[in-house]
Formats: sequence, structure tokens, C-alpha cells
Amino acid sequence: MTFKINILGCGSATPTLRRNPTAQVVNVLERHFLIDCAEGTQLQMRKFGIKFQRINHIFISHLHGDHYLGLVGFISTLHLLGRTKDLHIYAPEALGDIIFSQLKASKSFLSYHIEFHPLTSQKNELIFEDNLVTVHTIPLKHRIYCNGFLIKEKEHPYRLDIKAVEAHKIPIAWYHRLKKGEDYIENGVKIPLSTLTLPPVPSRSYAFCSDTAYHESIIPIIKGTNLLYHEATFLEKHEARAKKTFHSTVKQAAKIAKKAEVKQLIFGHYSARYKNTTDFEIEASSIFENSKAVEDGAEFSIDF
Ligand SMILES: [Zn+2]
Ligand SMILES: [Zn+2]
Repeated sequence: MTFKINILGCGSATPTLRRNPTAQVVNVLERHFLIDCAEGTQLQMRKFGIKFQRINHIFISHLHGDHYLGLVGFISTLHLLGRTKDLHIYAPEALGDIIFSQLKASKSFLSYHIEFHPLTSQKNELIFEDNLVTVHTIPLKHRIYCNGFLIKEKEHPYRLDIKAVEAHKIPIAWYHRLKKGEDYIENGVKIPLSTLTLPPVPSRSYAFCSDTAYHESIIPIIKGTNLLYHEATFLEKHEARAKKTFHSTVKQAAKIAKKAEVKQLIFGHYSARYKNTTDFEIEASSIFENSKAVEDGAEFSIDF
């Protein structure tokens, strides 16, 4: 029941020796999602032991270079490694032209198919769904069109209380209906669900909020999420700069975490002007205690 986030890059604007710009891999129940793909992402994946061909879905927040300039290189490497599986890319519409015109210019014919899913909506929408997991956009407030992503497990089934089920002689054919949340009714006899089952384990969620100004509209979307990654480009003393560039201060990120009642906040996308993250952690925890500055290579698990 894995739900794990690997931070591949958490700097902003340009790659430095210390930090790569934004990229993360989320493993949710063995679905491996790549979120953003800055320059250098492939090398970071090699460094941190991420297997390239496990990535089947890529989500790109916006078209500033520090969030996608590694993508065409990654696409090309997947071809050179002999990929045959489809690759799904969810990104602002214009990225489709960028990818396909680069491939065309180099007369590259890929060994696999890219299914490009253009994002255009300004509203929170469902963009991926399978039997266990959903991904929704989180519309953000940035200089250009930008989305975060909310990755959620679907509701888990009710758990059979085997002793109770056997004591009431419930036919096995009924088990799947109990798991779905139905009361047992047969020949006019009703045994309530609560007698026969234990509540489902809570479903877990991860919210990735890439570049954004302070934006309270995201609060209802990320309410109660287990883990929130929110950008924190600046310290409070540079709040004016944050406002001008449509970024957030770390205190603003913490305020969002508090108002949204998330369980834990992690933050990154630091401006290169800061030498370390000590002041970021002090400012964040003054507002929201369970918060942590990330670094490249950090790993976070969401447990039950
Ligand atoms: Zn950025
Ligand atoms: Zn940006």
C-alpha cells in the first residue's frame, strides 16, 4: 500500500550545484507519476534510483522552464531505452506543439506512443482515474496558466469482521456487497453493516502546489489532505517580491496549510538568494507546526 513522494528537485529558476529545479516522483499504489520535469531530471532519477520505464503518466504544472525543460530529453531517452508502452502527458496545451515540433525537427520517430492530454480549464477538474486512484487539477495563481495536482486514493472498502460474519452465517456471496457498504437483508431479516464490518481505512491524498501567489481558493480543494507540498520561494522580508512575481512566502504557504487543516506541510522552490533553509523552517513553524523544508533526494511516505 505504498504512497511515497521522492523529491528530485526543489530549487527555483535555474539549476545550481546544490539544487535542481522542480521535479518529483509520486508512487501511489505502484502507479509512478512524474510531476514536473525540469532540466536535469533524468540525472536526478538515476541518482535517486528511480526506474525510468515505470513512469507512465507525467503531469506538468506550467510552462516556465524550471518545470518542464527536461521533458523532451526524457522522452528521447525512453525511446533509446526501447520503450513500447504508451506515455501519458497532462500539461498546458502549448506543450504539445513544443514536444512534437522538437521531435519533428530532429526526424525522431518514437518507439512508443505519446498520448497528450491538454489542460485548459481554469476550474478544478478530474484528469486521471483508474480503479484505485484519481488525480485532480488545483488551479493556481501564477504569471501564466498553472495547475497543481491532487493525487488521491479512492475510498477503500469496508473491512469484514470475520468473527461477526461467521457468527451470523452470512453467505460468502454477500461479502462483496458488505464491502461496498450495504446492510445485509435476506428474507426480511436485516443485519446492519456496522455489526458485520469495520469502517474502511481512510483514503490518503497528496497535494502538489507548484508556483503560485497566495491563493485561498485552493483551500477547499486541498482540505484535510495528508501531505501538502506548497511552494515557498521567499522569506517574509521579501514579501513584496513574492507578490510581484506571483510566488509565495513560506509564511503564506504555512497559512494555507493551517487554513486547509492538512496533516503535514512540506515546502520548496526556494530562491537561490538564500544560503540555507533554517529561516524558512522557523517562519513556517511559527504558523504551522508540522512543516518541513525539503531538499533534493528527500523522501516522504504517507502512512495510514
Ligand atoms: Zn518555478
Ligand atoms: Zn513559474
